[in-house]
Amino acid sequence: MPGAAAAARSILTQLHEVMAARTHAQAKLNKIVDIIGEALTSEVCSIYLLREGMLELFATRGLNQSAVHVTRLGVGEGLTGTIAENIETLNLDEAATHPEFQYRPETGEEKFHSFAGVPIVRNARAIGVLTVQHVEPRKYEEVEIEALQTVAMVLAELIHNAGLVDEEQLDERSAAQSGQQVLEGMRLVKGLAYGKAVFHQPRVTIEHTVAEDTEAERQRVYLAFDKMREQIDAMTNQAEFGVGGEHEQVLETYKMFAYDEGWSRRINEAIDSGLTAEAAIERVQQRTRQRMREISDPLLQDRMHDLEDLANRLIRIVSGQLGTAARTGLQNDTILIAKNLGPAELLEYDKRRLKGVVLEQGSLTAHVVIVARAMGVPVIGRVRNVRGLVREGDDLLVDGDAAKVTIRPGQAVLDAFDTRLARKKQRQAEYAKLRDVEPFTADGQRIEVMMNAGLRDDVAMLGLTGADGIGLYRTEFQFLVSAALPQRDRQTRLYHDVLEAAGDKRVIFRTVDIGGDKSLPYLTSDHTSEDENPAMGWRALRLALEREGLLKVQARALLEGAAGHELNVMFPMVSEPWEFDAAKAVFDSQLAFLKKRKHKLPTAIRYGVMLEVPSLAEVLDLLLPRVSFISIGTNDLTQFLFAADRANPALAERYDWLSPAILRFLRRVVRNTEGSGVDLGVCGEMGGRRLEALALIGLGIRRLSITPAAVGPIKELVSRIDMVEIGTAMEEWLASPPPDMRAALSAWAEERGIEVD
Ligand code: PEP
Ligand code: MG
Repeated sequence: MPGAAAAARSILTQLHEVMAARTHAQAKLNKIVDIIGEALTSEVCSIYLLREGMLELFATRGLNQSAVHVTRLGVGEGLTGTIAENIETLNLDEAATHPEFQYRPETGEEKFHSFAGVPIVRNARAIGVLTVQHVEPRKYEEVEIEALQTVAMVLAELIHNAGLVDEEQLDERSAAQSGQQVLEGMRLVKGLAYGKAVFHQPRVTIEHTVAEDTEAERQRVYLAFDKMREQIDAMTNQAEFGVGGEHEQVLETYKMFAYDEGWSRRINEAIDSGLTAEAAIERVQQRTRQRMREISDPLLQDRMHDLEDLANRLIRIVSGQLGTAARTGLQNDTILIAKNLGPAELLEYDKRRLKGVVLEQGSLTAHVVIVARAMGVPVIGRVRNVRGLVREGDDLLVDGDAAKVTIRPGQAVLDAFDTRLARKKQRQAEYAKLRDVEPFTADGQRIEVMMNAGLRDDVAMLGLTGADGIGLYRTEFQFLVSAALPQRDRQTRLYHDVLEAAGDKRVIFRTVDIGGDKSLPYLTSDHTSEDENPAMGWRALRLALEREGLLKVQARALLEGAAGHELNVMFPMVSEPWEFDAAKAVFDSQLAFLKKRKHKLPTAIRYGVMLEVPSLAEVLDLLLPRVSFISIGTNDLTQFLFAADRANPALAERYDWLSPAILRFLRRVVRNTEGSGVDLGVCGEMGGRRLEALALIGLGIRRLSITPAAVGPIKELVSRIDMVEIGTAMEEWLASPPPDMRAALSAWAEERGIEVD
């Protein structure tokens, strides 16, 4: 709207002079209220600033001067306090009709009917309020409100530079005022953690709001738009490697916003009004935020998050403040706050300082969560608007067990936390005692409790937990943490080191499972750009078979790395037996090559598959003669059985692992495998939870491969189960499923004094 730009521009030009003048801050404020009052032909213009927790009238034109530094309102008190509290604009033709209206006689404001006010915001907090009042009862025009909002941005800079509001004290005070706050989410990784909030993508503080050279600012925004669009296009093209369904939607929306002419036009108009590029982007964002707040459609609000992300990205580009908190390094014990993270992004953080993660999205079997679990970092997901409610540097307590985040925890909560931590340590010490105890059920059945791994350091957990071996080594993690495709010798070295470290214990290496939510920027292809559903698309073995070079190199590396050891190779996402044959053929030809060259070979080679695509279960009879072992990947299997994207937070809680559908499916696989001599196990996240593990053992599963932290608890569980008894109970439940399988299993365990989580 050119009118808005012109109005704001004329005010900003005058403000610029005021700001540059060498006068005292109070004199500047006095001048400013005059300029604004004049420009908006308002009898009254006032500035309230936060001082000692109260909004104090600092300058006014039109109200009684004797009220200056006398009239004070609490945050949330009266119209001005409401604006500050909600960080929202009010525009009323009759102020007295608003429910929060309060009359202050010392101001002499009774004769003014219309009222408009905007918050003065810095770092997402209201540090003051700018108001205008008018005798005649009329609403202010949109143009005028916009001009006020623009001026408020500039005022925020002036107030900050003049030190009129003690922002540090403001932090402490607002912390004390709002006190402790508890947010609820979804339990993704158990555990307790305490630390300071750090945003994965730090918020940029805008230092300069008034432009020196409008054309230069326009150029900066143009360039930033170009760069941002390039980034979004690159991200969309990478989606080939599998960003989950949810991600894809987000990218589409990003793209739509990134190319939205209306958005760039509005930013340009804000620049026309005299703002810097950063301030103009923020100004437009404020306006959008306000509009969105008026529409209470949850779908639109989700889109608003996307637009916020994009606007932040644009501001970061324009101000050159790029990079995530991982790049700048963590200073303290940290609780990382993000909308969502990829596994590779999480791996960039310093493990010693990263104590917990809180996400707005996330789901139980997303790979970032699997990585966090392996790192032993508690994660809470699906915490609505956590990025809006938490501030950088806030003290946070993450209770991954109860799926709660406490912001600024009080002493009582901290004491309770310490007690629980101590109890947890004690329990862990008890589990540690089981390290060298072989897991037998109460009726003497040996259950193999293996662990999942993927990083070189994970192998150390074998010794610490006493796991029976590594039932799933996710080789793609090495690819995820590398900037480029790992060369063969690096792969060989890793596999060799893992086997050396594992000693006598068995390690099952899974060939690369790239795709789905594990994307690699350096590995792209034509296929995937049209992949609408990457989790079901060109991923894992499908990709490896086609990129034969990739599998060939890995086969050589595994065969050479395992020289002198038993090699166990497992192929992911096998959907039909011929895929197994094709993958094994790649190994066979590499083996023949090494034999011919008289290289040292593995002492034995066992081949197996992941059973995670339901179709494979229908042809088990064809598969069994070919393989030595099968590992059921319940993470993918459940997503395919329920047709529910494992990375989609909206579906994260919809289906239960303990549903008759899954349990009956698994039982059928167990039965059809019995007597074949093929070793059957489960390596999905499900097996690491006590109640789920109980169900799996009840189905006759004798090998679990789970996250290292669960090895102790599951060993303890095993020792308390009578396998025949739970088997019988499971038979009955599956013949005629109770309305709530989870409840039935829990009750069964409780009756026997078995603790489940
Ligand atoms: C699974 O799908 O259950 C599994 C163990 O593999 P991933 O989680 O790596 O897909
Ligand atoms: Mg899988």
